[in-house]
Amino acid sequence: MTQQRFHGRMAGSGRACDAPGCPEAGEFRAPGVHPPGFDGPGSYRWFCLDHVRAFNQGYDFFAGMSQAEIEAAQSPLAGWATQTRAFHPTAGIDQAPRWADFADPLDAIAARARSRADAMRQAQAAARAGIDPADRQAYGVLSLAFDADRRALRARYSELVRRYHPDRNGGDRSHEAALRAVVEAYNHLRRRPAFA
Ligand SMILES: [Zn+2]
Repeated sequence: MTQQRFHGRMAGSGRACDAPGCPEAGEFRAPGVHPPGFDGPGSYRWFCLDHVRAFNQGYDFFAGMSQAEIEAAQSPLAGWATQTRAFHPTAGIDQAPRWADFADPLDAIAARARSRADAMRQAQAAARAGIDPADRQAYGVLSLAFDADRRALRARYSELVRRYHPDRNGGDRSHEAALRAVVEAYNHLRRRPAFA
């Protein structure tokens, strides 16, 4: 671990930001749940720059959470075991082009037919490549091609996290379910041999 010139930054710690759902590196130390004192030296939390700034401005990412919930949220597997299924990533999402995208309705009909054929080809390619239904769902959540490599996976993941993160949406938490689905899909796929 090296302490850099930027005050307080600890690069190379290998920690993830403790803000739930944030994939950035946790390079900035903030006071933890247990203040130093009677029971020991206290604990720390680690945040990315954006989140340590939010923390310093009084935003508590863990407000209302129990100790166990906080520890679960800080785990690298956060959101994995406790994921509620209320949000179905494919529900209500029509990946076919929208009518409004086309001036000519016949173009639109042709495009939608192509899109259905593409979907069928994708399913067949997935079956041939040994990609199981859980994998396929994860690919679908991330809108990722089946031949995507690790680099493409990571790029799409950070793009989607940026898109859905409340911090990037003026604190609007309405994308939280989408963000959780993205994190879950990423955690699923990054362990697969194709992305090793
Ligand atoms: Zn963060």
